[in-house]
Amino acid sequence: TIEVRQVHKSYGSLEVLKGISLQCHAGETTCIIGPSGSGKSTLLRCMNNLESPDLGHIELDHDVIGFERNRFGRLMTAKQKHVQRQRMQIGMVFQRFNLFPHMSAIENVMVAPRTLKGLSKQAARDEALLQLERVGMIDRKDAFARNLSGGQQQRVAIARALAMRPSVMLFDEPTSALDPELVGEVLQVMRDIAAEGMTMVVVTHELTFAHDVASRVVFMDGGRIVESGHPSEVLMNPKEERTINFVSRVF
Ligand code: ATP
Ligand code: MG
Repeated sequence: TIEVRQVHKSYGSLEVLKGISLQCHAGETTCIIGPSGSGKSTLLRCMNNLESPDLGHIELDHDVIGFERNRFGRLMTAKQKHVQRQRMQIGMVFQRFNLFPHMSAIENVMVAPRTLKGLSKQAARDEALLQLERVGMIDRKDAFARNLSGGQQQRVAIARALAMRPSVMLFDEPTSALDPELVGEVLQVMRDIAAEGMTMVVVTHELTFAHDVASRVVFMDGGRIVESGHPSEVLMNPKEERTINFVSRVF
């Protein structure tokens, strides 16, 4: 379970997150939707400790992300080692896949387990093979990343995140940089991973995916959660004016 508690975040005088609270339960997929600039990416970056909230905090299985408790139970900024360990538990997939172009698919997947977890070459290779199989990329494992299609690169990026055995996977618009004909294969891999019980938080404009896969849909606008609930409510029968407008424009 990953929990966001009363998170505020500003850039200068611009308040981007205005008190976000959210619970994403283990084994469930939470989809975050909302217009451009509503703070979705900022929220994910806070969840992964790439940004720290100005107020409030994030908990992963009751550990406070970015903070440790001292022996009096007070929150202290976490030591680098602690932050590293937390980050390894959270996989992240971005809009741009950022693979090393001159390395093969399998080498890309092996890097983090080797360097961050200290796995042996053989163990990292076995893990990479397993994850490439999961995303349907085993046949192209030796291809250079730069020679793969966008959809294939994104599937390798998903395998790379999975190879760290995270307890949560965060996706930030993983299909919005892809040509339309490549979107389906990536969404299918995400459906499969969700069905296997991964805890996922997905920022997406793919409302059909959200409808089919999400346990909960969260609609954000202007740095706030405007409406959240089961997809049959938020997407099919929204209550708030802003949600109605957004959903009718996209769906
Ligand atoms: P999109 O759908 O376009 O990806 P989003 O919902 O992900 O939008 P964010 O990227 O979280 O929105 O940005 C929210 C607001 O914060 C925007 O107005 C953006 O310009 C601003 N912002 C984001 N990151 C920074 C930063 N590092 N410095 C200054 N302003 C930022
Ligand atoms: Mg964004």
